[in-house]
Amino acid sequence: MADSSPSEKNLETDMTTTCPICFESFKTPKILPCMHTFCHNCLSSYILSTCKTKESPVGFPCPLCRRFVPAPSFSVEVEKWTELIPVNKIIHTLSVKRDKLCDACKRANEEIEASDWCESCSELLCVLCVKYHERSAVSKNHSLIPIVTLNNVSEQNKKIESPYALCHDHNNRVEYLCVDHEDLCCTRCAWNKHRKCIQIDGIEDAAENLRKSGKFATLTKEISEYEDTLVKTKSEGEGTIRYIDDTSDQIRKESTELRDKVINHVDALLEDHLSELAQNVKQNKDKVAKIVAAVSDRHLLMTQYLQTLRDTEQTSSSILVQDYLKIRRQLKHVTRSSPSKLILKLHSHFSEDLTRILQVTKFSDIKTEMESIPLRDIDLSCASMALICELNGSDGDVTGGCFLKNGDIVLANNSSKELLHYRNYELVRKVTIGMQPRDIVQQTSIFILVSEYQNGKGNVGQYDLNTFKNVEKILQRDNTVYSLAVSSGFVYAACSDLILKFDSQGNVVQQYKVDRNTYSVAINNKNEVISSSCDKNNVTVMDNSGKGMYLYSHEKLIYPYGLDVNFSEEIFVAGKHSNNIHVLTPTAELLKIYEVKSPRCITFKENSYMCFVGSETRTTKVYEFKEDLQY
Ligand SMILES: [Zn+2]
Ligand SMILES: [Zn+2]
Ligand SMILES: [Zn+2]
Ligand SMILES: [Zn+2]
Ligand SMILES: [Zn+2]
Ligand SMILES: [Zn+2]
Repeated sequence: MADSSPSEKNLETDMTTTCPICFESFKTPKILPCMHTFCHNCLSSYILSTCKTKESPVGFPCPLCRRFVPAPSFSVEVEKWTELIPVNKIIHTLSVKRDKLCDACKRANEEIEASDWCESCSELLCVLCVKYHERSAVSKNHSLIPIVTLNNVSEQNKKIESPYALCHDHNNRVEYLCVDHEDLCCTRCAWNKHRKCIQIDGIEDAAENLRKSGKFATLTKEISEYEDTLVKTKSEGEGTIRYIDDTSDQIRKESTELRDKVINHVDALLEDHLSELAQNVKQNKDKVAKIVAAVSDRHLLMTQYLQTLRDTEQTSSSILVQDYLKIRRQLKHVTRSSPSKLILKLHSHFSEDLTRILQVTKFSDIKTEMESIPLRDIDLSCASMALICELNGSDGDVTGGCFLKNGDIVLANNSSKELLHYRNYELVRKVTIGMQPRDIVQQTSIFILVSEYQNGKGNVGQYDLNTFKNVEKILQRDNTVYSLAVSSGFVYAACSDLILKFDSQGNVVQQYKVDRNTYSVAINNKNEVISSSCDKNNVTVMDNSGKGMYLYSHEKLIYPYGLDVNFSEEIFVAGKHSNNIHVLTPTAELLKIYEVKSPRCITFKENSYMCFVGSETRTTKVYEFKEDLQY
């Protein structure tokens, strides 16, 4: 009977002792909800490698069955997840013991192979001991798991999963729900930890309430909606990946075509050039050869003359005189007609346009335009304004400004006539302009527009974004121009009793009549015109033709000097004298009032819940609206 070989033989390949990642004996086995078990370190490096490619991961697939395992906690970083995953106690004990012998029999010095694991005693038992264990009054309720099922995950699953929820502190059956803490309690929890809590429901009642209240349906609906958004976003993301591939293929094709065109062109130029060169060489050589031939004939003639003049001894007098006269006459003729000396230099001036290509340092500029839009709108009726930072050096009298596309902030400091430029919330530039700036919007990637005024006359100036120098005045008025907004290529300017809509050259295309002392205007995604009047203390939403749609006023909204609208079309109104910011739905219904000291302007960053709030006396602050988490 004392034969231990079968159990030892299985040790190597057995799932109860071997980690499926490293194929060695388990070291600190951790168990996933799908009941698959891995060494602590193996699982930890697996989780890190699968999560590092994802933005804010919420879980990971089981390395064996791919079932998605939610993060064990959403408040700790990925590196610590494995620590929170429970140890598989059975496998841990088995891997420490390194045999599968009945513990009870071992105490009696007998070696008998175990058949079951008692979870309550953390012991292995043989068939016989199991029988006694089940009969004994003390151990009859113990949870026994047959060892054979440890290899069979689905079987084990059924066996281990308790039909009751257990409390955190004592691992006892849950009997109550503390409504105050939303905490599941056993009797002990309820009497100790939650003794002073107001509402503690029996767990049956709590379940019944939940079923009746429709909260299940609400949660299901919320999840389904979010799921739809995720499905849509995923397919859009995949579409974007395809787009990147297609576009880069297109760019590659166009670049290669351009190169081929340039090379073919240069080749053709070279061919013309070489044939011109050959022609030129031939002509010049012919010309020079002609001269060389003429010179060489004259040379022969001179040799002959010299010969004649030298051999005069036997010559008769008459011939001598005749020769002399003839040679002298002919020489005059020959020298007069002698060819000119040719000095020839051959040059080639390469076209500067051609050599300039060597100064080109880049084939093309590759640019990516990217926008990130929050997947889910936050519920602004239960959110808070989290202070991100203060913009130092913007103390008082900031009447407007904007977030640039690159995330920088430019503020208009009215009385000091300054434009303040912030990068990463640090003041990087301060430029004094000739007039008092009231508001700023970004017009293009290189220009900003500034509404400015002096001595009761106002205008909208175009400024170079790099130098902050005024380029031109695109709109001039006899009255003050207050806040600006841009949408679909048009600019809107609040001018107290009117809002002007004009194009990029300053041609006014529409005028909207509004209540007096309208200092602020914003345009939403539907191109609706939103403005607030400090005379009537109200907020008006008009369609783009100027037809009034929604009106908002509130006893706690006084002097609504500034306003803005965000990407999800909620309206934010700065009540300067009521010391608050009213957040309204797109149809101008109140969502929530936030207390802020004397706000003058509020301006949002594109596609985000981040904004800055300027004030007459205080430093401009950057806030982010964050949803309150409910526990
Ligand atoms: Zn392992
Ligand atoms: Zn699994
Ligand atoms: Zn036994
Ligand atoms: Zn037991
Ligand atoms: Zn408890
Ligand atoms: Zn409680």
